[in-house]
Amino acid sequence: MTQAAQLERLYINGKWQNTGKTFAIYNPATGELLAEVADGGKEEAQAAIEAAEAAFGSWRKVKAEERAELLEKAAALMRERVDQLARVLTLENGKPLAESRGEVTIAARFLKWNAEEARRVYGRIVPSDPHRRVLVIKQPVGVVAAITPWNFPSSMITRKLGPALAAGCTVVLRPAEQTPLSAIEIFKIFDEVGFPKGVVNLVTGLRAAEVAKVWMDSPLVRKITFTGSTEVGKLLISQSAKTVKRVSMELGGHAPFIVFEDADLDKAAEGVVLSKFRNAGQTCICTNRLYVQRNIAEKFEQKVVELTLRLRIGNGLEQGVQVGPLIDSRSLSKVEEQIADALLKGGVLLAGGKRAVGEEFSHGTFYEPTVISNASREMQITHEETFGPVLPIYRFDTEEEATAAANDVEYGLAAYVFTRDMGRIFRVAEGLDYGIVGVNDPMPVSPEIPFGGFKESGLSSENGLEGIQAYLETKAVSIGI
Ligand code: NAP
Repeated sequence: MTQAAQLERLYINGKWQNTGKTFAIYNPATGELLAEVADGGKEEAQAAIEAAEAAFGSWRKVKAEERAELLEKAAALMRERVDQLARVLTLENGKPLAESRGEVTIAARFLKWNAEEARRVYGRIVPSDPHRRVLVIKQPVGVVAAITPWNFPSSMITRKLGPALAAGCTVVLRPAEQTPLSAIEIFKIFDEVGFPKGVVNLVTGLRAAEVAKVWMDSPLVRKITFTGSTEVGKLLISQSAKTVKRVSMELGGHAPFIVFEDADLDKAAEGVVLSKFRNAGQTCICTNRLYVQRNIAEKFEQKVVELTLRLRIGNGLEQGVQVGPLIDSRSLSKVEEQIADALLKGGVLLAGGKRAVGEEFSHGTFYEPTVISNASREMQITHEETFGPVLPIYRFDTEEEATAAANDVEYGLAAYVFTRDMGRIFRVAEGLDYGIVGVNDPMPVSPEIPFGGFKESGLSSENGLEGIQAYLETKAVSIGI
């Protein structure tokens, strides 16, 4: 992958194809050219949905066990190739190799979980009047369009394609323009294990809006599943109205992390540093606001700062690196803007606060892990999603105050609470307007845990029992006897 200008193609109807145009993929840690990738536009978008539509009729009839076997084989190959896939992921995204290995592993687990779910799509028989029998059955939605972001180039794909394929849907995927290489590696695996032609289709490229418009306008596409910003999600929701598509949206987040005086403070400090700085702060469930009970605040802030200062920044391929570069210079500027605003409004810098300095950082988009205390509601960072390594700290006195402050954003994806008080665990977890609550758990993500947001963080859930349901229609069959 390090040889420059390797050419990668897109995948439609079981064939790897060129489009006559390419775009370049660069390593955010070094600025080096990694590959040229086929740039697909509206023709490829249309060809992909036609292939998916043609394949749907037979794919939906394939025995669930056989669909499951293909997914199992793909999961096994991902596990077998974890080193290679993780390396590609780190090269194009920048995250440390250990995180990339973790992502590829969970991406494979998403396929495996859904392979298992494929055989458990049950209906029911409902009591009705004596002259009628009512069956409720589940059927695949149809052609699914999936659009995924750059921050999890591997796992966001399998979290959508796993349940869609298990349910009997066919799929067209458009990965983010910065990270198509992980998608291409996954599709090589799909091709190798033998998914029938047209069942999975991949349109890489620079023209997101153009491709999405073809898919959103087309009656052939019955469902859109999207992970990305709330802004683009809202656009897709409005575009879906025209043909009343089924919609799954995994959108932005602004996770609060609340630490009460009775918490295990060492575990909480380790948890918040992990939750904040993994993927350089570029995940939808990364801690965005740390709320600490006032009487332990000083002590806790010290612990957090100590751990933060120990984090090693660098090229994700190097052993021991914990914080990689940001995805691009636009992200870097946004982080700088939010920090400048916070400091202007009374924030106190406890760690970081500048781009990483030194020869090894000179060609990449590196920013030092940053901690700011005395944060307040007026700061941009308190309301705007922070996609970078910046941790603002707020103090609170009561449980009610902490819960209200945590809920005071338009987002509602993940929230974290550290406490050992059983009553409080239930009161606060139930009071938080968030789809995922990690109680003494900074990483509440696993195939069996439903993942979805309240409010402007999304619609419907991925993973868990809910995952496959999002790709199924409910049909009532009423039989007169
Ligand atoms: P983004 O700008 O919304 O991009 C996400 C995807 O949408 C990319 O593939 C992008 O393509 C595509 N896109 C951009 N404009 C589009 C349009 N007009 N029509 C259709 N597709 C379009 O988001 P991002 O900044 O790259 O990703 C980070 C966001 O994703 C954050 O808000 C984060 O919280 C969210 N996220 C949410 C979850 C979750 O599960 N809730 C998980 C991960 C990330 P291009 O890249 O080619 O522009």
